[in-house]
Amino acid sequence: KYLSGKTAIVTGGASGIGEATALLYAEYGANVVVSDIHEMQGNKVVKQIQQHDGKAIFVKADVSQPEACEQLVNTTVATFGSLDIAFNNAGIGGESSAVGDMSIEGWNKVITINLNSVFYCMKYQLLQMQKQGSGAIVNNSSILGSVGFANAAGYVAAKHGVIGLTQTAALEYSAKGIRINAIGPAFINTPLLTEAGMDNNVKQSFLVPLHPIGRLGESKEVAELVVWLSSDKASFVTGSYYAVDGGYLAR
Ligand code: NAD
Repeated sequence: KYLSGKTAIVTGGASGIGEATALLYAEYGANVVVSDIHEMQGNKVVKQIQQHDGKAIFVKADVSQPEACEQLVNTTVATFGSLDIAFNNAGIGGESSAVGDMSIEGWNKVITINLNSVFYCMKYQLLQMQKQGSGAIVNNSSILGSVGFANAAGYVAAKHGVIGLTQTAALEYSAKGIRINAIGPAFINTPLLTEAGMDNNVKQSFLVPLHPIGRLGESKEVAELVVWLSSDKASFVTGSYYAVDGGYLAR
């Protein structure tokens, strides 16, 4: 239980990669603040943690709103006394169209939810961690934080932005005891893919062949990396971008 005594926030913690990470944080002993816009699903994750004798609360927060991100940090500290770990993970697939056809609204929405939110969350998390003189932040980018993908310009731009933001914050805060890293999952079997219109047929014929390992990833396989980066085992790791991608970026 090497995260015992630590308190972790997971945004987008009600589903997919966030849910798997919340469960794994708890398994390693952390107090977990599961945050999402989906209250019912988030509370289910909290219940699951509590049934295994873990400590968790749900805090509803729409991370596209700066005040909600500030409130999330405040509630965390008021409940558990500190903020040691943050996994900024909430995100959407966004509009699927070529650049010329993409709506202004679609672009703004994905930039707000997938990029601005990471800045809003980090801003308040860093103020708290700086007070404590310690902390670890992991931002969920994507393989699409370092390469392009047709019909996903807003998503790709947001995820590239998350990496630049991560690197810059690491330059500013690493000497203050706060490590900040980003991860790059390839295509992971979560509701996000289904919501983006990728049914089983599309997954098998189009997505799977992009991964040299011959399959899509599972949320738990991403969570393992996030937990390691969040822990003191990664004490010399900061400002980095770690792929967890079944070989996608090696092509
Ligand atoms: P998911 O849809 O299973 O989970 C995303 C969660 O974020 C949902 O519970 C949703 O309610 C929440 N959310 C959405 N908008 C929010 C908002 N404004 N405020 C708070 N919560 C919000 O999807 P997932 O695949 O687990 O995605 C998690 C992260 O992983 C995203 O940032 C996504 O871009 C990234 N990612 C996913 C894949 C993939 O293939 N699934 C690959 C690389 C990166």
